[in-house]
Amino acid sequence: MSVTDRFSLSGKKALVTGASKGIGTELCSVLAEAGADIVALARDQAGLAEVQKAVEARGRRCLVIPADLGQPEAPERAAREALAAWGTIDILVNNAGVSFPKLMVDQTIAEWDLIQAVNLRAPWLIARTLVPAMMAQKSGKIVNVSSQTSAVALTEHGAYAASKNGLNGLTKVMTAEWAPYNIQCNTVCPTVTMTPMGQQVWGDPAKLGPMVAKIPAGRVAQTVEVCDVILFLCSQASDMINGQDIFVDGGYTAV
Ligand code: NAP
Repeated sequence: MSVTDRFSLSGKKALVTGASKGIGTELCSVLAEAGADIVALARDQAGLAEVQKAVEARGRRCLVIPADLGQPEAPERAAREALAAWGTIDILVNNAGVSFPKLMVDQTIAEWDLIQAVNLRAPWLIARTLVPAMMAQKSGKIVNVSSQTSAVALTEHGAYAASKNGLNGLTKVMTAEWAPYNIQCNTVCPTVTMTPMGQQVWGDPAKLGPMVAKIPAGRVAQTVEVCDVILFLCSQASDMINGQDIFVDGGYTAV
């Protein structure tokens, strides 16, 4: 098999959560360009319609599933809808996330609960709905989008860090339970990336400057740099990588 074939997603079906903006939007195009058909999931239907156009412009199919992953029933319902439409889903990227940066003394219980629901509970519920079909075909890829905050403390990120540390732990147990079925589960942990969330959290130059000063690469990540690592983890080229947290952080957590 050629290098091109080992990195290709031709014939694969990928479900991407948080597809309506930021990293998820770019990812749908990257995975489609690599050959995958896409199930695009988020709340914002206008954003999803744009993603559908971009995927179809690359010659791939795109199924749009609007869903609010903060609701307890929504993740499993959306995953079942994808299975009903397309049979098996070969690749799941749990990318949807929310962050309400506040000091821990100020964070509300409602914000805490929503962060855990979207960032941590939904990935578990979607994965466990999709995984029986992956087990049956003895192959699958699950990439959970975590954060550099899963390895280092950032002030105002208490609830968010708890969710992302939880996601890394969940990914390890996914690996223990599902790797024997040839399903690879890993996280990708980006540094600051200038998406709508990146703008919301780091848009103030007084916050961004000191953060960038701590990144050895001297800059934030581009969305495509995060997506290309996810693409690798979705391809056959990464079949022996299981339960790892891959940091796309310009060296931030290394020094
Ligand atoms: P973003 O620009 O804010 O996009 C977040 C996506 O999640 C949107 O498509 C949004 O769609 C979806 N989402 C949020 N709440 C949802 C809900 N209740 N139900 C369904 N979908 C929901 O964020 P991003 O920067 O691309 O972040 C993508 C992932 O990377 C997240 O997991 C984030 O934690 C992680 N990350 C980001 C950064 C960064 O600096 N940007 C750094 C490290 C890690 P709708 O609003 O349409 O529902």
